[in-house]
Amino acid sequence: MSIINKLVSFYKKNKVKTIVLSLISVVLLIINTKIFFPIILVSFLTYLWIKSGKKGIDQKKKCSHCKNEIDYLATKCPHCQSKIYVWTAGTKIILGMIVLIVIILVNQDTSGLNYSTPEQPSAEQIVEMKKHDFAKLAKMNVEGMLKSPSTAKFNTSPVVKLEDKTYSIDSWVDSENTYGAMIRSYWSAKAHYIGGDTRDETIIGANWIIDEFVFDGEKIK
Ligand SMILES: [Zn+2]
Repeated sequence: MSIINKLVSFYKKNKVKTIVLSLISVVLLIINTKIFFPIILVSFLTYLWIKSGKKGIDQKKKCSHCKNEIDYLATKCPHCQSKIYVWTAGTKIILGMIVLIVIILVNQDTSGLNYSTPEQPSAEQIVEMKKHDFAKLAKMNVEGMLKSPSTAKFNTSPVVKLEDKTYSIDSWVDSENTYGAMIRSYWSAKAHYIGGDTRDETIIGANWIIDEFVFDGEKIK
């Protein structure tokens, strides 16, 4: 009997059990695909395997040596005297457990590799990312000042300075005024980061306090 046939006959006899097992599998699959799905599958197959042995007590099987029919649990063929190995429930459970342990070990190894692959950014890299975040935030503030923000063309390489925890930018932006003429505006901004030592990139503006903002010579903040 193939595994699929076993699964089908198991389902026909144990509809509730199958549905419960499937639901548990789906939940565990959502929680952790890598470990729990194989564990559930191995446990389920081991269970079926054990069940098939118990059911076979009054069944017959073919001797692997002489092909005569013998009792399912016979350890010696009465026809050709060959020794026949019988998979006991205990052996099946142990084999199932070995497969589970292997799955868990393999998972630990690969997850260990996965976690070590993305390297933590260095302090310098974090500062560079913070500079980039600040430039983005400053641009958002500048756009708020423009008559036509969609026409804005920013200085593509603004210099972001960091001095004593204060980030500053002196830059310019070209954009259309109310009459549709492209006008260059100079602006500067100073801010400090309040997101702690590491960088929280979820909401750029939430981790910053703008201390000073000057647009077209006018001190906005
Ligand atoms: Zn035999």
